[in-house]
Amino acid sequence: MADPHLGWRFGTEPDDHVAPPSDEVPGDSLERIDREITTCFACPRLVAWREETATAKRASFATDDYWGRPLPGFGDPGARLLVVGLAPAAHGGNRTGRVFTGDRSADWLYRAMHRAGYANQSTSVARDDGLTLTGAWVNAAVRCAPPANKPTPAERDTCLPYLRRELRLLTSVRVVVVLGAFASQVVAGALDVRPRPRFGHLAEHPLPGGRTLLGSYHPSQQNTFTGTLTEAMLDAVFTRARELGA
Ligand code: SF4
Repeated sequence: MADPHLGWRFGTEPDDHVAPPSDEVPGDSLERIDREITTCFACPRLVAWREETATAKRASFATDDYWGRPLPGFGDPGARLLVVGLAPAAHGGNRTGRVFTGDRSADWLYRAMHRAGYANQSTSVARDDGLTLTGAWVNAAVRCAPPANKPTPAERDTCLPYLRRELRLLTSVRVVVVLGAFASQVVAGALDVRPRPRFGHLAEHPLPGGRTLLGSYHPSQQNTFTGTLTEAMLDAVFTRARELGA
C-alpha cells in the first residue's frame, strides 16, 4: 500500500490543522491521531524550526529528502509497553519521518528493544527499513523537533492531547517507559498523576488503571558518551518492564 505520508511538502494544505489539538474526539482512533499529528501546524516556533532544519539540512544528509513534519507514534496497537521520548531529533526523526529513526539515540534504543524481544531488528534507519514492533509502541512527548531539544512549556502543553488520546486508545499498555525527566513529567501531566513522580533510572511510580511508570535515562549522546547510560542499564529497563507485565 502506498505510504499516505510520502510526497508532502512544506507549507499548509487545506486539511492541515493550525488550531491546537482537541483532548476529546468522538470516534477517535490511532489512525485519526496519526493523520492529525502529521498535519499539525499549531506551534509556530516549532513549525518554523522543523522546516528550517529540513531545508538547511546537515551536510552529511544533503541529498536526503527531509520529512520536516511532526511525527506520530509507531508500533503495535496491542502494545503492553509504551516508550515515550522527549521530541524528534532535527536530523533524526525530522529527517526520516519516523520517531527514533536515523540517529544515535535510535541505535541505542532499538538495539535494546531488539535484545528484549520488542523489535524485529536492532536498527532503525528509515521508514522503509522493515522495522516492526511486537507488544510495544514508541512516541514522543512533543511531536515536532524543537530548537536545542527544548520545547517551551506552552508547546509541551499544546501537544499534550495527542499523548492523552494515545494513552486512552492503547488499552493494553501496562508499563510506560519514560526516557528522561521531561517525558516523565509529560506522561504524569497527561494522566493527572499527583504528586508528580520523582524521576530516576529504574524508578517506578503507579499510574491509573494499574499501569506503571518506569524511568530510564534518555539514550542521548550526552548520556551514552559519558557512561551515564550504559547498554546494561538500558537492558535492565526492558527486563523490568517485562517483569511488570509488558
Ligand atoms: S509540537 Fe505538537 S501541537 Fe505543536 S505543531 Fe508539533 S505536533 Fe502540533
